Amino acid sequence: MNLEIVETAAGDLYVDRADGERGAKAPFFHTYADEAGEVRWGYFCGNCETVNNAMDSMGRIECNECGNIRKPDEWDAAHE
Ligand SMILES: [Zn+2]
Repeated sequence: MNLEIVETAAGDLYVDRADGERGAKAPFFHTYADEAGEVRWGYFCGNCETVNNAMDSMGRIECNECGNIRKPDEWDAAHE
């Protein structure tokens, strides 16, 4: 796994820019708390480069900084 270290408000985290969830503005990359990529931390917004986002129970991810959003899969299917 090729992880990129990033400094965030939550401390140093490791971002996998090769793997993520498709967002409206940019991907949400998978983020890990450890260099080996074994401890999932959350998501890194590829648009504004922050980790200030949240996932709800529907699987939707929304960035609190730039409004980038990952809609649940069924929404994508209905609009494409
Ligand atoms: Zn963002």
